[in-house]
Amino acid sequence: MLGLIADYNDQEAWLYGQLTKNFHAKEFNCPCCEMSIMNPRFISELQKLRKNCGFPFLINSGYRCETYNTKISKNTVGQHVEGKAADIKMLDRNQRFILLRNIFNMGYFKDVAISATFIHIGTGNRLYGVGVYRK
Ligand SMILES: [Zn+2]
Ligand SMILES: [Zn+2]
Repeated sequence: MLGLIADYNDQEAWLYGQLTKNFHAKEFNCPCCEMSIMNPRFISELQKLRKNCGFPFLINSGYRCETYNTKISKNTVGQHVEGKAADIKMLDRNQRFILLRNIFNMGYFKDVAISATFIHIGTGNRLYGVGVYRK
């Protein structure tokens, strides 16, 4: 798959290693258990998005185990649990524009939610559209 360095079938590499040119597994760690079980297609598309944007992404949240997810989110079927979502820190107006433009151009990330400090992107298996965090 395009842009992937680590072999998904090599568990050690995928859970603890460099996944793509710009992303390491530890960037997607669940804060409670430090596991990172990201979906390879999602990571591949994220790398494409990163390349298209041309600036570094700071990942606020990637993989979440079910225990952690239920602790912080009402959405028990959240895509973070499936490794198909990431929250990208975003404070810059210009970069926000570039990020959103590329997300929409690519068409892979169908679930987008915008907060004052980050942008959530997911594959949108259940949820489509653009949401806004109210607090
Ligand atoms: Zn956890
Ligand atoms: Zn999120």
